[in-house]
This record gives sequence, structure tokens and C-alpha cells, in this order.
Amino acid sequence: MDIIHLLPDSVANQIAAGEVIQRPASCLKELVENSLDAGAQHIQIIILDAGRTLLQVIDDGSGMSPTDARMAFERHATSKIREAADLFELHTMGFRGEALASIAAVAQLEVTTRKPADETGTILEIAGSQVLRQEPVQCPAGTNFKVKNLFFNVPARRRFLKTNSTELRNIVNEFYRIALVNPNVSFMLVNDDELMFDLPASSLKQRIENIFGKTARKGFTSQLVDLKADTSVVSVYGYIGKPESASRQAQQYFFVNGRYMRHPYFHKAVMTAYQGMLTADQQPHYFIYFSLSPEMIDVNIHPTKTEIKFQDEQMIWQILLAAIKESLGKFNIVPSLDFDREGDLDIPSSANTPGQTFSAPQVRVNPQYNPFTEHINRTRSANNWQALYTEPKSIVSAASDLADPLADTAAEANDEALLFDDTLTQAAPSQYKDKYILLPATQGLLIIDRHRAHMTVLYSQLREQMQNHKPVIQQVLFPEVLDLSADDSQLLLQMTPELHNAGFEITQIARNSFSVDAVPAELGNTNALAVLMEILHSVAETGLSTQEQWQHRIALSLAEAAAIQTGKQLQDREMNDLIQRWAQLKDKTFTPAGKRIFALLTDESILKLLN
Ligand code: ADP
Ligand code: MG
Repeated sequence: MDIIHLLPDSVANQIAAGEVIQRPASCLKELVENSLDAGAQHIQIIILDAGRTLLQVIDDGSGMSPTDARMAFERHATSKIREAADLFELHTMGFRGEALASIAAVAQLEVTTRKPADETGTILEIAGSQVLRQEPVQCPAGTNFKVKNLFFNVPARRRFLKTNSTELRNIVNEFYRIALVNPNVSFMLVNDDELMFDLPASSLKQRIENIFGKTARKGFTSQLVDLKADTSVVSVYGYIGKPESASRQAQQYFFVNGRYMRHPYFHKAVMTAYQGMLTADQQPHYFIYFSLSPEMIDVNIHPTKTEIKFQDEQMIWQILLAAIKESLGKFNIVPSLDFDREGDLDIPSSANTPGQTFSAPQVRVNPQYNPFTEHINRTRSANNWQALYTEPKSIVSAASDLADPLADTAAEANDEALLFDDTLTQAAPSQYKDKYILLPATQGLLIIDRHRAHMTVLYSQLREQMQNHKPVIQQVLFPEVLDLSADDSQLLLQMTPELHNAGFEITQIARNSFSVDAVPAELGNTNALAVLMEILHSVAETGLSTQEQWQHRIALSLAEAAAIQTGKQLQDREMNDLIQRWAQLKDKTFTPAGKRIFALLTDESILKLLN
């Protein structure tokens, strides 16, 4: 007997729905993208119960004829592409013709729609893929979708939904991603009768302000500087946060050709550009928009996947890195960047240091360059970006009319013996701006970056402890629970022995849950979980895989987080202790990340300065 048969449409659609419509937020995304594809200028979203009970999207777009309205719910029914070749010339968000069929399979749906040219519209009701009624109706032009009782017929899915607050957060995140690429469209979001967002059509910058600058963080956009790079391969524009606005929960968005995307590799480019400006648990805000020819990216994007493949990722990585460095550099030296505002430019006063001139940096691309091979840049000459922007408030710039104070120090630093004979025990150090230690030495004045010195000391101490399997741990009073993605859990399990050597005691309590029972003592009061997550993510992003690389990464992140921060006062005893420990380091000149720890203002250059 033959046993193969075709599945009825309703079952096939339900299976498809499992992929496309995973939660209220994905349903909302599909509906709103349809409205945008229909050319809507105003979109209203109404939700009840975080979308479980109702998800409604009202638009003033093209509307549908009665027949189209019915057709729209068939699987692979789309007005957006006709042939495979169109896939490479996409101008719409949707094209697979799957969304409405999927939603109709797992919810009770009511749509009212009218084309502007038609006199009457149509109302259509569908539940679980069955058309219940369709009749003419008087209604405004445009389309009004009501999705009720999502997953009413798939109890397993409904149970799988998270708490209302989590589902609402997902909805709001999806909303941000759409609102941030369509600033020219007005959006309204009402949740359980409360108006959450009312965003008029505006410039992109104003849109960002309207979303994120609500009461708590008014003036959010004054924390941003603009980003722009036009090359033959790609154009990049948007806004990035000033380093001082970085925080644990930063707003970070990449978009490509009008679509939100996740891109851990490009994220790494951003983080590289900010290196040395942020502490381990700080992340910069960014809103970065790429546009490039559609054939340069993989268009066959799965509706729920936000990772997008680019053909020339390394080159774009470099362009992005250079563009960000340029913006940060400009922000430090050109006090006229914040184009949307007049007057109150929050440029630090050091930005106006007279006598500093920098030529506009060139974007040069090395297609062979691979950021994933950990490389420590010990010479600054290779790339004049660094000098341009890494030390915005550096004291060294006070000596800027000296030929090249950094080169000076580098030459001297090779002869450390000369510098460090016994001056360290005799001279009286002092603190400067809660950031530096000034230490008289044989040949001049040493300016030591406290944070860098401290982090290098901690790093070498941690590496030693890890190698000897002798961590110094600190029990946690109330163990915290980490819920991770499957990938992160996997990685955490692999790295557990190394993390253990560093002082983390981690127990797996469920498949993807872990309790953190002890943390490295070095961390003191810093947020150990944030550091742990940072370690995991940087390892995941950079694909580090050897034990040695892991040890380096773990020690680096811990040291970075635990080292004394700018602005914190050091007791004299602590300062002396730090100097002693730093003086015993094998390499006193560079941090493990290749940053310079101290500068020497030679007696000679002081004389010249005062000339
Ligand atoms: P896709 O968006 O991939 O084409 P969907 O299932 O999301 O597939 O939608 C099917 C079709 O229904 C669309 O191609 C479009 O013609 C029509 N449609 C859906 N939503 C709207 C809307 N809000 N306004 C006008 N037409 C719509
Ligand atoms: Mg669609």
C-alpha cells in the first residue's frame, strides 16, 4: 500500500508558521513590514496582553482589492516578486509570501482594507486557515489587521511564550528596529491602553531622540557624533556614542539596506575603534547604517534570522573601523560637528587645545587584514589614527610643540635601567587628575597612567595564578544565576576549567543555566557577571580557541574591570604600592593590550617647553 500523501494546506501552513511566527514580536514585525511595503506613512500599533490577546496594525498604505485580500493568505502569495531574478533586486521587506498564510494558520484574524481609489472596502475573517466570512464594508483607505489570540490552536506554542514583560520587551525591540530605519514614517504604539510611543515623521537624529531621549535620558542625541564614509564598496552613515556616554546597556544597531541586522564581526570593529576608551563593562551606543548594492549581500534572508552575510566583510570591517576612528578623532578636535544643534556643543575643553593641527585621515584598506588574528600594535607609527584619537586628554599633548613626544619616550623606554635605577624608592610621587601618577625620575618626569599600570599588574598576577592553578577566590553570598543561549552555554562549559583557574566557581544547574558561586577576588565589588559575559562574548566573537588565548582573554578582561578607574582617589599607600608592583613588572612600558603605560617628559623637553 502507498503511504505518502500531501499535507493539507492548513497543516503545511502551521508548520511554516512555526518558523516564521515564533512569538508576538515576530508577528508584529511581519505586519508592520507589510504596511511599510504598502507605502504607509502612518502606522498605528495596538496591543493587548503583550500581543497574546490582540496585535493590531493600522496603516494608510495602498490597501488591497477584495480578491487580493483573499489571495494574500495563500501560501507563496505575494505581490512583491515575480521571478527568481527579482530576488537580487529587492526593494521590499517581504517577498516570500509566507507571513500572512502563517499568521492565519495560528491565530484568529480580521482584516479590513480598501484601496484609495475604491469606494467600498472589504472585511475578511479567518481562523486557523479557514475563511469564516468576507463582505463589503465602509472603511478608511489602507489596511487594518487584527490578530487575536495568537497560537489559540497551538497550545504548546502558547505555553512556550515568556512572561508578558519579556514578550513586550521583544515587541518593543522589534519596534525600535523598524522605527529606526523609517524615520519618515510616523509610528504609534499603544500597549494595554497606554501610549508607549508616539513618533512623528522626522529626521533620523530626531527619531533617535524621540525613542531613547524620553525623560530619563533627555538629550540622548547630544551624546552622539555622526559617522559617514562613502566608498565604492559601501556607504556607511549613522551615529556613534561619545566614549563618556558608554554604558552597560548601550543601544547598538546595525542596519543594512533598510533592514536591521546582527553582525558580531562588525561589532568587533566598533569595539576595536573604541579600544582604550572604555572599561571592560562599558559598551558604546551606535546606530550604524550600511548601504550597498544588493548583490553584495545574501538576499535570501530567512525572515527570523538577523545575521546577514556580506561578500566583502574584511574590507567593510576596515572601512567601518576607519570611519569610527575618524569620527571619534574629529569629535576630539573639531568643535563643530553636531550639525542638528547650535550653541551647546559638549566638546571637552581639551578639544580646543590651540596649536594642534591634524590632517584629515585617509581611509586605506588592506584586504588581507584579518582582525581575528590577535595582534598587538606596539608601534604607533604604523597607523596615525591612534595618535589622533586614543589620548584625547593626554598630558603628552601639552608638549605638542615638541617634535614627537611619544617617539622620544619610546627611545628612552628601551633603556629602562636608566630610568628606574633607584629613583622609584626615593622620589615622592604625586597624583594628577585622579588619572595619572607623576613620578620624578633620573631623566625627567614620568607620567604614569594609573589604570594601565594597575591593569598590567593585575594581568600578570592573574596569569601567574592561572598557570599555577592557584586562584584567589571570593565566595558569593547569594549565588547568581546565569541563563545563557545554547551556544554561550556550550562555550562556557568548554571554558570552565580556565575560568576556574582564574577564580570563577560555576555550577551547571540546568541545561543552559549556571550558578556562579565564587568569583576572582581581584574583582572586589565590580559586577562579576558582566565581566563573565564580556569574556564569553569576546571569545565567541573573535573565535579564540586555544587555552593560551583563553587565559589571555580572561586575564585581560578581569584586569581591565578590576583596575582602578579614572576619577577614583588613591590613598598614598595604595599609590606607592602600585608603583612598587608596577616597577617589578618585566614589561613596564606596555599593557597586555599594547597600550603605553607611561610617558617621560625629559628634563630637556621641559626646558624647551619653557623656552
Ligand atoms: P510578502 O510580504 O512576502 O509578500 P505576506 O504574506 O506578508 O507576503 O503578504 C502577502 C501579500 O499581501 C503582500 O505581497 C501584499 O500584496 C499584501 N499585503 C499584506 N499586507 C498588506 C498591507 N498592510 N497593505 C497592502 N497590502 C498588503
Ligand atoms: Mg510580508
